[in-house]
Order: sequence, then structure tokens, then C-alpha cells
Amino acid sequence: PHRVSNTSASLFERGQAVIPGGVNSPVRAFGSVGGTPYFVERADGPFVYDVEGRRYIDYVQSYGPSILGHAHPDVIAAIRDAATRGTSYGAPTENEVRIAEEMTSRVEGLEMMRLVSSGTEAAMSAIRLARGATGRSKILKFAGNYHGHTDSLLVAGGSGIAQQGLKGSEGVTAGAIEDTIVAPYNVVPEIDESIAVVCVEPIAANMGLVPPAPGFLAGLREACDAAGAMLLFDEVITGFRLCRGGAAEWFGVQPDVWCFGKVIGGGLPMGAYGASREIMSNVAPLGGVYQAGTLSGNPLATAAGLAALEHLTVEAYAALAERAARLQEGMQASFDAAGVAAVLPRVGPLLGIFFTDTAPHDFDSAKAAADNGVYPRFFHGMLDRGIALAPGAYEAIFPSLAHGDEEIEATIAACAEVAATL
Ligand code: PMP
Repeated sequence: PHRVSNTSASLFERGQAVIPGGVNSPVRAFGSVGGTPYFVERADGPFVYDVEGRRYIDYVQSYGPSILGHAHPDVIAAIRDAATRGTSYGAPTENEVRIAEEMTSRVEGLEMMRLVSSGTEAAMSAIRLARGATGRSKILKFAGNYHGHTDSLLVAGGSGIAQQGLKGSEGVTAGAIEDTIVAPYNVVPEIDESIAVVCVEPIAANMGLVPPAPGFLAGLREACDAAGAMLLFDEVITGFRLCRGGAAEWFGVQPDVWCFGKVIGGGLPMGAYGASREIMSNVAPLGGVYQAGTLSGNPLATAAGLAALEHLTVEAYAALAERAARLQEGMQASFDAAGVAAVLPRVGPLLGIFFTDTAPHDFDSAKAAADNGVYPRFFHGMLDRGIALAPGAYEAIFPSLAHGDEEIEATIAACAEVAATL
């Protein structure tokens, strides 16, 4: 159905009058690629449809949550069914127990967890837990890693912060970051006994896709153990997308604390943090680390998340990785044929793109590749051909299980056309 009354341009104009930049998350404003964002009317499987009736093969997929594709019938049925029984109670439910059982059974070493409402909240809570459990103040993060918009974690953040060329954010006090140490990604830093926790994206996916160098994660594990610091894997993107057990399974390195988001909410707002039973025993009401939430464990979100997880079998991950591999190979061949310098880093189902000769390994090399001016031209070339990529070079490419042969082929064909114009 095609509504003629609204255009993306008219909605963007109205939006800008009442919402900063017209958007509720900065990357969506098209600031780094130019032009007018498409306003979405609906989405279905691999597609989003804008308010002007245009259809796009969607590789944004909400930046990761909709791993089954948009509006998967089982997820929608679960949400519908849950909604008829009320949308929030402020009392515990069976589905909260079920999703915690499901997640802890998949991730080795994850014994207890708490549900929250976003990845930001999950990372923030995990850090409070690590500080409370160790009695230490300092945290270490890596340049180009993004852990949500908590004050102490914005410094040298990837994603939209990097895209806007910001080092952090105004409004964050010096006090809020005086206990944050920033180190270059992919180099094991010096860790001393003042550090409570080392936070890492086990595969960096907010400065484009930058895989961990061999030995990096194992090196962090060793250095943390030597200093009595905790290791936190931020699996908001990798969790339940990379494979059943996440980065710990993939790389054979186990953190002390995890945070999750995106996939586990099946497209509804949900995050989680967790650890061993011993560490989680510090969380109130068992211990003194306070953390709470009116909408935590929301019944729509747990229903959606459980429905999504049910589809995420070993076979599903293999299928998703196979799709990502075909995109990687087909797009790489298109760029090679057109003589365009491009690399598409991939780890299983996780895929990224940089217009450069050699794959970046840290924030500096990622920034040099992301900001060289090619991505915006590629982005708009693809968008013109009905392929929606993230409107920023610092984001990953998110194929879903709904992307079939036809969509993959169409994407590669469009890529070949656009490559010839670069
Ligand atoms: N950590 C990582 C690794 C992320 O990619 C994100 C969001 N892209 C977050 C944390 C924050 O999650 P949210 O946007 O749900 O607050």
C-alpha cells in the first residue's frame, strides 16, 4: 500500500522541528553520507519499505537485532500472544526464567544473568558489578570499541561518535572519565592492580568490522588474571549472532563478565549482563551492587527473544555464515573487477567493508579507511539500487536468515554496478 501524503523529506522536515536532527539515534540522520534518511513504513523478512512505497533489501536490520529478518511470523505471533496477557507487570514471569535458562545453557561459564532494557544499560551494569566485586575503580576500554552511551564509556567510542569525529561527548564530566583508561585495540595493554575490568568487543564491530588479532583475547585473559582484574566481553553484537556460545566459544577465551543486547530481544528492547554464580551473587538483592528496572524482563521482549532463540540452531548459524561468505566473495570480486580497493573482513556471520587495500587492525587504521570519502558514494549508489546499508562507514553489514539467494545475488549485482562508478 502506497501512501502519497507522506514523503521521507516531509517527515524529515517535521521531525527536525521536534526531535534533534529528526532522529532518535544520531547515525540515522545520514550526517556522514549526506541526503535525506528514508522513513520506514514497514518491514518484512529481508526488506524494508519506505513511506513512499520504495522497497530496499535491508542490511541494517536494526543494527543487529532482527537476525531472522524483519517481522518473522513466529516472533510476531509470540509478541501478539504475550500482548494479550498484559505488557508489563513489575512481578516475575516464567519467560524471564526460561530465557535465562536458555542463554546460560548456551554460553559456557555464564551461570546467572540479569535482564535490562538496552545494550547501554547492560554494559553500564556489568561495569558497576565488576567494580563492586573487585573493590577497584579503574576500567580499561579500547579505542574504537563502543559500549553504549554511558558517561564513562563514551571516550574514544566507535559507531556514531566516530562518525561525527567526536572524541567523546560534551556533558561528560572530567570526573566521569578519570577512571577510564583507553588503549589501542589489538595490543595487549599493561594491566595493573588498580584496574577493575577490561572491557572489550571480542570482535570490534563499531569501527567497521575489526577482528581480534591472533592471541589478543587470550593475552587479555592472561593479563587480567595476573592483575586480578576482570575481563568483560561486550557481546551486544556478537552474542547469539556469531554462534550459539558467542565469542567465548568461537575464540576459546572465557571472560568473567558478559553483556548482551540486540538478538536476545528478538527486535524488542532488551539487554542482559551476566557472569558466574559467584560474581553475580554481588548483585542486589543477593549483594550490595544495586541495579533495577521498571521494564526489565518485559514480557513482550522475553517472548520475542525466546521465539528468536528457538530458531538459532547450529545449522542456522552455518547458514548465516554461508550467506555472509557469499556476500563477501561476490562483493570482493565486483570491486576487484572494477579496480576498486576494498576489503570485506568477515568472522563467520559477521561482515564489514572498508575501502582500502589492507584490513584495518585498530581505530587509527579503521578511521583512515572509513573517512576517505568512498563509503558515502558507495552507500548512495547501493541505496539508489534498492540496497540499504548502514548510513555510516563505522557500522557492520547485517545479513539475516531471511536473505535468500535472490537477495544475495541482487546485492552482488548492484555492488558490481556501483563499483564501476567508484
Ligand atoms: N555494545 C555494543 C558492542 C554495541 O554495538 C552497542 C550498540 N550498537 C551497545 C553496546 C549499546 O547498545 P544499545 O544501543 O542497545 O544501548
